[in-house]
Amino acid sequence: MYKLSDRINNMSTSQTLAMAAKTRELKAEGKDIIGLSLGEPDFNTPDYIKEAAIQAINDNYNSYTPVDGYVELKDAIINKFKRDNGLTYDRSQIVVSTGAKQSLANVAMVMLNPGDEVILPCPYWVSYAEIVKLAEGVPVEVPTSVESDFKMTPQQLEAAITPKTRMLWYSSPSNPSGMVYSKEELRALADVLVKHPDIIVVSDEIYEHINFVGEHASMAQFEDMYDRVVTVNGVSKAFAMTGWRIGYIGAPAEIARACNKMQGQITSGANCIAQRAVITALEAPVSKIQYMIDRFKSRRSLIIDLMSQIEGFAITEPEGAFYVFPDVSYFFGKTINGYEIKDATDFSMFLLERALVATVTGDAFGSPNCIRFSYAASEAEIEEAMKRIKNALSEA
Ligand code: PMP
Ligand code: GLU
Repeated sequence: MYKLSDRINNMSTSQTLAMAAKTRELKAEGKDIIGLSLGEPDFNTPDYIKEAAIQAINDNYNSYTPVDGYVELKDAIINKFKRDNGLTYDRSQIVVSTGAKQSLANVAMVMLNPGDEVILPCPYWVSYAEIVKLAEGVPVEVPTSVESDFKMTPQQLEAAITPKTRMLWYSSPSNPSGMVYSKEELRALADVLVKHPDIIVVSDEIYEHINFVGEHASMAQFEDMYDRVVTVNGVSKAFAMTGWRIGYIGAPAEIARACNKMQGQITSGANCIAQRAVITALEAPVSKIQYMIDRFKSRRSLIIDLMSQIEGFAITEPEGAFYVFPDVSYFFGKTINGYEIKDATDFSMFLLERALVATVTGDAFGSPNCIRFSYAASEAEIEEAMKRIKNALSEA
């Protein structure tokens, strides 16, 4: 028995990754599980990006890179921010990391002192709360619900702010709800934040391109907010590059410098080949990845259509990302075919065991009435999953 640190003992396991591991395990045992738990595109990385990586290997890109990323990659990111978001950053404001997850961890580590509060509108992405706690910050959850389309109102934001509030973190398009803040809605939140000039915003825009309702809006686009926003992005989702592990930030130079220093002691920078490939990914027009976004859009219609035929699933139509986050509290307190369902975790386990469909409990995202389905899966899998769920529930 080893004595591990309180830091790790107090940390929850990532429930998205835990469910993915369980799915792999059950599949290896021969169980025919349909995995709708992990937020991971089922496409291959596009060929033109793979070729850039092969070229980089042949060109002997094998040394340590600058800690905050190759200059050519920073320039590609600067151009991307300008082209897609109308945001102006210079090289001193960009830091490339080992996935957006590390970008977020860097920001928490360099911004938070013990007891500093971070406002997390619920549902939030699973790792936010644990990263904040690791940095000795205190997550402050702001509940939203299916009735309010999972959007935090300016009044809720104002009410959550205390003298200890240091940051606000959110993702739009949202993992797990698929909610997308419009520019007007962000402006209304910004109007609250301008009254509290010490609060820094982390705007996680990793699903930016997977947006079905219109133009993506960034908090840093508001001149009176620009100096207080860390814009987080990455290539995992829209470019089908989860395993390449590249994320990045555009931030005030002082914050970027601090992240660079942190990373210099922890990873020495992101993988060299992946960085070269991402230069190509970001320099290419967004139209090159449109085929994946179109598929996500048609799968969204499919899953919403099928799910709305299942009694007890309360859905708000997701506007972006590739998740549906139904409220399933209708089932709480019921016993279905001998299976007692007290909460969302029980319901998610029921679906795994009785319908052989893997999902993630809403508890992981701070919304205990819901469960998350990822529809980054084939149409056949989505259809079969919904059929199995309907059958499992009708055995009541
Ligand atoms: N933010 C959100 C909202 C996510 O869903 C994810 C999931 N991958 C990440 C950040 C981390 O992405 P990466 O693969 O770049 O670490
Ligand atoms: N972000 C994805 C998800 O939410 C991938 C898993 C993870 O990084 O936790 O499922």
